[in-house]
Amino acid sequence: MTKPSRDEALSAVQTLIRYMGDDPSREGLLKTPDRVLKSYEELFSGYDADIAKVLDTKFFDLHNFQDQVLLKNIKFTSFCEHHLLPITGSVDIAYIPDGCIIGISKLARLVEVFARRLQIQEKMTAQIAEVLQEHLKPLGVAVQISASHGCMTLRGVSQQNCLMKTAHYTGVFVSEKIYRQEFLDSVSQANK
Ligand code: ZN
Repeated sequence: MTKPSRDEALSAVQTLIRYMGDDPSREGLLKTPDRVLKSYEELFSGYDADIAKVLDTKFFDLHNFQDQVLLKNIKFTSFCEHHLLPITGSVDIAYIPDGCIIGISKLARLVEVFARRLQIQEKMTAQIAEVLQEHLKPLGVAVQISASHGCMTLRGVSQQNCLMKTAHYTGVFVSEKIYRQEFLDSVSQANK
């Protein structure tokens, strides 16, 4: 795939504006294609992110800590790959360390890397879990995402309060029900 030039992308936005029935040469819309591209460059910056770099700082002095590490309620906005409409929601991530941990902010950064791409929620859930499993090699990872989809709330069936939930597990969260239950119990508890 060759990346189009910025000029080609600008004229594509003008074409869309014309398709919507407006005039891209009127004053209020003159700079819109440029603004759209600038916001896209930020909203889709996840394609250029280096995941190995995001997860490269590990801490090894754990004093045999082997309990669940959980980061709850990481907010994100992504865009669905079927309609280019927003997906907004939150992610809960847990893992059971096996000799090393990463800084907790890295989990939030990891969510951002995958959110800032065109996505489907199922894929994003699995990607976060699998990448964490691969780079950190913990005993297991659990990821749950709860999100509202613009393609349901803004158009089509117009379901305003509908939330989609997905989960993906690796390692002991797959093989041992007790770990999965502990994760589900702690994410369903009210924030305290
Ligand atoms: Zn969609």
